[in-house]
Amino acid sequence: MKVRQKKRNFVSEMQEINQSHIKYLLGVGPKKAETLQKEIQVVTWEDMLYYFPYKYIDRSKIFTVRELQRISGQERNDNSMPYIQLKGKISDFQIRGEGSKRRLSAVFSDDTGSIDLVWFQMLKHIMTTYNETTEYILFGKPTVFGHRLQVAHPELETENKFYDGQLGVQGLYNTTERMKNAFLHSRAIQKIITQILENIKTPLPETLPQEITDKAYLVSLDTALRNIHFPQTPEMLRQAQYRLKFEELFYLQLNILRITKYREKRIAGLRFSQVGEFFNYFYFNHLPFELTGAQKRVVKEIRQDANSGRQMNRLLQGDVGSGKTLVALLSVLIALDNGFQGAIMAPTEILATQHYETISELLAGMPVEIALLTGSTKKKVRTEILPKIKTGEIKIVIGTHALIEDTVEFANLGLVVVDEQHRFGVVQRARLWKKNATPPHVLVMTATPIPRTLAMTVYGDLDVSVIDELPPGRKPVKTVHTYEKKRGHLYESVRKQLQEGRQVYIVYPLIEESEKVDIQNLLEGFEKTKQIFPEYKVSMLHGKMKPAEKDAEMQRFVSGETQIMVATTVIEVGVNVPNASVMLIENAERFGLPQLHQLRGRVGRGADQSFCILVTKYELSENTRKRLAIMTETNDGFRIAEEDLKLRGPGDIDGTQQSGIAFNLKIANLAHDGQILTTARDFAQAILDADPLLEQPQNALLARQLVRLNKEKQMGWFMIS
Ligand code: ADP
Ligand code: MG
Repeated sequence: MKVRQKKRNFVSEMQEINQSHIKYLLGVGPKKAETLQKEIQVVTWEDMLYYFPYKYIDRSKIFTVRELQRISGQERNDNSMPYIQLKGKISDFQIRGEGSKRRLSAVFSDDTGSIDLVWFQMLKHIMTTYNETTEYILFGKPTVFGHRLQVAHPELETENKFYDGQLGVQGLYNTTERMKNAFLHSRAIQKIITQILENIKTPLPETLPQEITDKAYLVSLDTALRNIHFPQTPEMLRQAQYRLKFEELFYLQLNILRITKYREKRIAGLRFSQVGEFFNYFYFNHLPFELTGAQKRVVKEIRQDANSGRQMNRLLQGDVGSGKTLVALLSVLIALDNGFQGAIMAPTEILATQHYETISELLAGMPVEIALLTGSTKKKVRTEILPKIKTGEIKIVIGTHALIEDTVEFANLGLVVVDEQHRFGVVQRARLWKKNATPPHVLVMTATPIPRTLAMTVYGDLDVSVIDELPPGRKPVKTVHTYEKKRGHLYESVRKQLQEGRQVYIVYPLIEESEKVDIQNLLEGFEKTKQIFPEYKVSMLHGKMKPAEKDAEMQRFVSGETQIMVATTVIEVGVNVPNASVMLIENAERFGLPQLHQLRGRVGRGADQSFCILVTKYELSENTRKRLAIMTETNDGFRIAEEDLKLRGPGDIDGTQQSGIAFNLKIANLAHDGQILTTARDFAQAILDADPLLEQPQNALLARQLVRLNKEKQMGWFMIS
């Protein structure tokens, strides 16, 4: 009886905070509520409580203008000035400029000096709200403007109001331009949250079982949420952050590990019990070179896994040029030996075609029918090969996403190899499982090194194999960074390589927003290259070309008919031309680290010394300089991945999306919270070891939370249950 009573309270409280609409709060109203929904997807009290400050400042400190001038003198880059507080008076309100340049300026002074204030909006309102006799506390982020310190749109409070218990450590909330225009600046968010917390009388219900909060030394959710917004002490803030990060990472791990358990329990794995004719004949008669030790080890791991009675879900990591294609082929041959078909899926037509050609050549003379299936496969060819895939006559299918379309039916697909697909998370992989009555084994291959923490999160349900050895005789690529102005020298060293019979890539950036300009750059680059190297033939490749044209152009380069390839990043992934020894990247400042590393991987694939030349303009941001320095320092893909994660600011969703996470972490940061992640994962693992599918009553809260999070975040969780 008692237990039931308690449960009901719990549920009703839950409903309250995720059903109470913020628009009914004082000073919010329908208009602001709409802005909050559009800009930061906040609708309910709960959403608002989970909108955390992005940083904290100590508002007990009040600077003097003179102190500020000293700080600004040290900081050359004015964007790095911190948020500060000053105490003083405003004078000299003046409206200046016309049209879009219209603004209100004023001077803010204390005993030690003065700074400028400026507003671009609500000029009249500002002028009537503030006067020249009151002393204000100013809060804002100064910039240097024409040798003077300036604060745009400062927050101003009269001193009285301020000392009302508001000093100390305070959170700052991210706000968008639209939010600021609707008067929803950081301080306003803070006021909304204050109201919500004041309205919640009973402690907020727990979202983690007591056993976990006890064992992991976590403060309660109620304490955590109150302190994340209004820290009582720096230590309480730390504990609040820890608890919320833990919870976020814990549920991610619980979800992904539960998928693994589900698979183990509910899916019978195909058994590849023998290694037979196909594998052995190829291995002893066709293999063009000795496998590296790492390749041998990985093939063995795959063989054992595919014969364990469990469905294989394996990630194969191996730096560019480490020979993953061969491992893929050997695995496919084992599938064939056991009476199954194999499929290899690549992200682009160019890469699929290249795999098709490489593999056809390697298997030449063996009785294996192979088909290429991409978006541009002609209808006539399609109608020819689809039935043969269905009957099993075609044993190996190589292609793009086209090969997992519903129209493609297999007789008995035993293994799918997924090559270089960075967005191939658990949801996409689960779709492959449906391609056979018993889900096929899945091997995901990537050369994009994934930092450990990210791998645990995106690919946390996969077993991992690593090729940590390059084929013998490879020389590490030499990387240099140079400026546009020094082009003369550059072309001479490139010419030297061409004279020795090597080939050269010249890459231009292409970003969608500025596509037209970029294409223009590329075309100009193409013309210029032809002028500078009149004695050589030049190819060009970009995404806007028709697939057939692209293939033909690539083919000309592969065969050596052309010596220089001017291209956009379409050549980024996987393409293999061992004779190419120079990768020249124009506007290198516009590329991310993983992309630069991928591009560099296109050279250094033969026995000759290769070069990667990063060309940039002269003025570069600090961050870009670091990126380029890392490229020149190391060829180690894993180190590059870790550095990349560190260089990204917290909350860089783009970065994580690129790596395959389809959701946004609210508070945890994969670059810095590796330790918390590991702990959270251990807890999740222990729970699932005892109760693999979360069916026992003591785990009901966990199961319910997973369903809830799944609904809210649409992470595609549970798509298999
Ligand atoms: P990636 O791992 O980047 O996909 P590839 O499979 O394209 O690398 O292999 C890169 C190059 O190395 C190819 O030209 C391939 O033929 C060659 N290669 C692969 N394995 C070996 C080996 N064991 N010994 C020598 N060369 C190899
Ligand atoms: Mg490859």
